[in-house]
This record gives sequence, structure tokens and C-alpha cells, in this order.
Amino acid sequence: MALDPHLVRALHISSEDRQGAARDPAAAHHLFQASTIAALMDARYDGDMTVAEVLAHGDLGLGTLAGLDGELVIVDGVARVARVDGSLSPVPPSTTTPFAVVTSFAPGPPVALGALAHDALLERLDALAPGPVCAVRVDGAFTRLRLRSVPRQSLPYPPLGEVVQQQAEWEAGPIHAVLVGFRFPSEAAGLEVPGWHLHAAATDGSTGGHVLVADLAEGHVRMDVADEVHVELPPGVDLTAADAAMREGIRRAETRPDAG
Ligand SMILES: [Zn+2]
Repeated sequence: MALDPHLVRALHISSEDRQGAARDPAAAHHLFQASTIAALMDARYDGDMTVAEVLAHGDLGLGTLAGLDGELVIVDGVARVARVDGSLSPVPPSTTTPFAVVTSFAPGPPVALGALAHDALLERLDALAPGPVCAVRVDGAFTRLRLRSVPRQSLPYPPLGEVVQQQAEWEAGPIHAVLVGFRFPSEAAGLEVPGWHLHAAATDGSTGGHVLVADLAEGHVRMDVADEVHVELPPGVDLTAADAAMREGIRRAETRPDAG
């Protein structure tokens, strides 16, 4: 893979027995990831890691659930799932995930943000980002959120490119919400969603989802640089799919022209 040298140094890919791993499961400034976005693109929707195991590696993050059953959003160590009806509900710890990214969020000081439409918000996040790979949390009042989720899939699983054709999109706002997510460089496509990947949870718990548009009225952002990325590959998943998916243009399915 044509990976950025900085990222290669930071990247640890493992398919070893997780119980035998000697690393600190939740060290500061480490990202932990279950599987790869390319495996997800390739319809690997079941995974073998539970949400409880993911939460042992961090308290802020995002992902999906087995069978692609909604959008996983993890805030303050609480995992919830946004489904196609726009609801946000707690995830039983034994639920498995085929793809998740988490970190033990250890941010720098909060930075106040004024009114920023979606693209301007992402530009501001880029300007504030402490490194090429980072975690972010935005708490604020939003004039508009456009969110999406995907319906649970049944076997035989169609590829993600087909599933997103069935995705549900809806709008909320004005609304108070938390956005959580990560930024990865474009060189990481295949392993990760390049650019900003954000999931939202309304402060009142009324809705959440994968963020397509977030127009901020006012709020504050906190960021945490990641100096190590640990990718745990499920049995049967290797990096071949990540490499292939990179070439096939992963952005088409996971991001949209209006999503950034
Ligand atoms: Zn997402």
C-alpha cells in the first residue's frame, strides 16, 4: 500500500489472539480499530469483536454493528446505535461489530467555535488539527444536522456500495449535539475513511447518525492527536481488500459530495 511513512510508523496491524496482547488496551493517544473500511466495503459485516471489547480500548469513537445494523456512536464510554428510523438507542455490550474506531480521548483544551456552515466547520477542524491522524469531539448547538444510517443486512450480504443506496437520510435542527470522530490522511484510504469521519448524538438522545452535514451555530471543539493506530484484523481479513478498495475509490461510497 502507498502509505504515508508517518502513518506506517504509527500503524500496528495485528490478527493475534487479543487476550494475549501485552499492550495497554487504552493508552492515551492510541487509536484502536476493529478491521478495515475495505473489509467493510467488501461486505464483511459480521466481525468477531464485541462492543464491550471495543469499549475496553477507548471511550470515544464510531463504527457499525454486526449485519451493518446502524451507525455506532461512542461518547463518554457509552455506546449507542442510530438506526434508519433516526432513533438512538443503547447497544448491549455483547453485540459484535465488524468495524469500529475508538480512542481513550485525551484532548487538548477546548477551543470555542462560532457559527460555521459544514464546509467551514471542516476547514476549521483541519486548521486546528494537532496532527495528520486525530480524534475530535465537537459539543455545540447546530442549526442543521443531516444524518444517515443504513438498514440491517441479511445474508448473502451485498457490498457496501449497494447498501448505501438504501441508506436513510434525515434532518434535525436546531439541536444540541455532540459530534465525535477521526481524521485520517488520504494515504490511509482502504484502512480508514479518509478525511473527517463524524458521527453525531443529540444531547437529548433523540437522534444520531453518520454526519452528512453539520451546520454549527456555536460550540467548542476538543482534539486529540493520535500517535499510534492499532488495527485488529478479524480472522480471514487481510490487507488485500484494503489495497484493492483503495484503488476502487472508497470515497464514493462512504462520503458524499455534500458530506466532506
Ligand atoms: Zn460513519
